[in-house]
Amino acid sequence: LKFCQALPKVELHAHLNGSLRDTTIRELALKRNLDPALTKVIEMGDRTLSECFKLFDIIHRITTDHDTITRITCEVIEDFAADNVHYLELRTTPKTRSEHGMTKRSYTEAVLKGMQEAQQGSRGQNITVRLLLSIDRREDTAAALETVQLAAELHSRGIVGIDLSGNPTVGKWSAWEPALQEARRQGLKVTLHAAEVYNPEETAAMLHFRPERLGHMCCLDERLEVLHYNTGIPVELCLSSNIITESVASYPEHHFHPFYSAGHPVILCTDDSGVFCTSLSKEFAIAAHAFQLSNSQLWQLSEAAIDHTFLKEEEKEQLRKKFQIARATLE
Ligand code: 5GP
Repeated sequence: LKFCQALPKVELHAHLNGSLRDTTIRELALKRNLDPALTKVIEMGDRTLSECFKLFDIIHRITTDHDTITRITCEVIEDFAADNVHYLELRTTPKTRSEHGMTKRSYTEAVLKGMQEAQQGSRGQNITVRLLLSIDRREDTAAALETVQLAAELHSRGIVGIDLSGNPTVGKWSAWEPALQEARRQGLKVTLHAAEVYNPEETAAMLHFRPERLGHMCCLDERLEVLHYNTGIPVELCLSSNIITESVASYPEHHFHPFYSAGHPVILCTDDSGVFCTSLSKEFAIAAHAFQLSNSQLWQLSEAAIDHTFLKEEEKEQLRKKFQIARATLE
């Protein structure tokens, strides 16, 4: 774990509301008078995939106002920076909450404010942060298009792409595809949560869309596996998340291994570091142990993630230089 902590890292799959500190959750639950039974679910509840989505709804009940959104954004960035993450692509679903005077735009502005505050503070200076706006699978075409439009308008302020996430058993691909096509037209990059449950038609449609990245890809049959390998689309893999939610039976059986062995681009990520009690360093340590990776392989894995960021080429080059300087120090 020590080596993994010292390793400079890139985090490309982290959901804001899933990455909350334990202490903040407890404090907010108390302040909002959250039913103690619900607080208990947050603290020690079941974490199967379907339970996780109930849990997110509970977390959303305590992160309702703009100041809280700004605060948690700032804290999450500080936590990734403390874990030696040099580049973070944070993602979050813009929310409309009329009872709090919140629109998707004002929610997103609150997140951007948190990003700015974190990077002005002493703990966030060594980390570069970009934002992806997520479309929740519960949303219809119009709501998805609103998110894409917002991301396009705020492109110059650090929003680099669109994510599709939310309960994988809900909704239909045809509802979000027009918005995702629009995202592409607007110059935004796209990453999709795919194959978290077995849904061959949807997964094939997602592969056909050719997003820049895919997340998870746990439930594939042989045909989809071949299709995916042939596209070469990089995959964001979240080991703890997949094991805890029971999407994958054990670490040694995780599809990281076949992907990595075949030379398919993979990126280790946390998904929801708060919900799954993890950090990116821990994920690297788990991979090192489960798949017997050497320090030099861990280094390569970490550095290769830069290629798959949604940064511009010159920004990637700067990040590579920063990694090389860190490597010299590490050695
Ligand atoms: P938020 O977007 O509110 O900042 O972060 C929490 C949201 O991210 C959840 O409500 C859910 O839509 C999405 N999310 C977090 N983890 C996962 C995951 O493992 N799979 C999927 N499909 N969605 C997730």
